[in-house]
Amino acid sequence: MAKKKPRAIDVIVVGAGPAGATAALTLARAGKHVALIDSARFPRPKICAGWLGPRCVHLLDELDVNIGALRPQKITEAVFVSSDLSKTSRPMHNGELGVAVDRAAFDNHLVEVAKKAGVEFSEHSPVAALEPGESEVRVRLKDDSVVTGQYLVVATGISRNLLSGLGLRMPSDRPTTFSAHISTDAHTSSNKQSRLIAAFNASPETGCAIAIETPKAISLTLHARTDQHETVRQLVEFARGLRSTGLLQADLTQEAAKAKCMPSYPFNALEVDSHVGKRSLVIGDAGGFYSTVSHEGVFPAIWSATIAAQTIADIGPNDHAQDVLTTFDRAWRLEMADFLRPPNTDLQLLLPLIFTNQPMADRMGAAFFMGENI
Ligand SMILES: Cc1cc2nc3c(=O)[nH]c(=O)nc-3n(C[C@H](O)[C@H](O)[C@H](O)COP(=O)(O)OP(=O)(O)OC[C@H]3O[C@@H](n4cnc5c(N)ncnc54)[C@H](O)[C@@H]3O)c2cc1C
Repeated sequence: MAKKKPRAIDVIVVGAGPAGATAALTLARAGKHVALIDSARFPRPKICAGWLGPRCVHLLDELDVNIGALRPQKITEAVFVSSDLSKTSRPMHNGELGVAVDRAAFDNHLVEVAKKAGVEFSEHSPVAALEPGESEVRVRLKDDSVVTGQYLVVATGISRNLLSGLGLRMPSDRPTTFSAHISTDAHTSSNKQSRLIAAFNASPETGCAIAIETPKAISLTLHARTDQHETVRQLVEFARGLRSTGLLQADLTQEAAKAKCMPSYPFNALEVDSHVGKRSLVIGDAGGFYSTVSHEGVFPAIWSATIAAQTIADIGPNDHAQDVLTTFDRAWRLEMADFLRPPNTDLQLLLPLIFTNQPMADRMGAAFFMGENI
């Protein structure tokens, strides 16, 4: 009997975080044969507070991705604090505040859903180079093997070194931001509720420091445009302040002093001229998709993935493929620009009002939780 010819790959997705896994899943459901490639072994650890905002939860529902098995902790209270932790406000929010999940488990779950949809997943397979051609793309792995497909989606997170192979340059002249993070289950809370505490920094680029307390765990995250040492020092101060003001019962200063700290997001997607290369699209953190107000990144990663997947699925047999791919730049701007845009107001002037004026606290709440502009 003649051997069945293996089905050719339509789309190669490099990077299996939320952006890549969602793009792969959506394309597979649209009938494409998808190869999803990641350098890590899954489940892989991920430094993240694990907060999924309300719009993210809804988008996952729309995508029919059920995260119930991950036991998401519903956030029921939000507290905003000034950067010196001396003032607080509680945004009134009619809607939801999102959930906290174990991020490694969440990412692994998305990959599992993608595999069930027919995606061919290769883990522990670092990609060394992207080689787009006129009629196909070639992805060269570190072991020198080559995967060939029609189109490419790049979702490598903040590792953006492969993008030069597509002739795309992301802004490289931004001062580095560092993110320090701890997550601990060593301090059990008697509080059965889960809350999110956000301390705002006046600079939209560095966003805010966030504490998330659930009955299972507490996490602290702080972004700062300085060096690693100073970022960790600020995280320790944040932990000390939360404790001394009674906002947190637990003393996390010792854990904070040993925080993991990594370089973070140097640019926003809105600063980038194009996320379209030859036969390829860039999504998620690789393209700078994140909210400048809350530093929420999972939702825009997934959102940009759905728009990219739709763009590729829309390429018809008689279309000039590159012309259709080029529509991605306009499509994501139309849908996502308001969410990604920094507040169209001077935060430095606005911040004091958030702690003295309830409607302003509510506006900030809408910006933080729903991505509305202030
Ligand atoms: C400290 C911290 C806390 C955060 N907390 C939150 C939060 O609570 N909520 C939220 O919404 N966002 C948060 N974020 C942001 C969020 O983590 C990112 O926006 C999100 O991970 C982006 O998803 P992605 O799929 O684009 O990239 P990633 O999740 O980074 O995935 C990229 C994938 O690409 C793979 N990869 C990279 N290079 C290669 C290569 N050469 N070959 C093969 N594979 C490769 C990696 O292994 C990885 O699996 C936080 C960020 C930081 C730094």
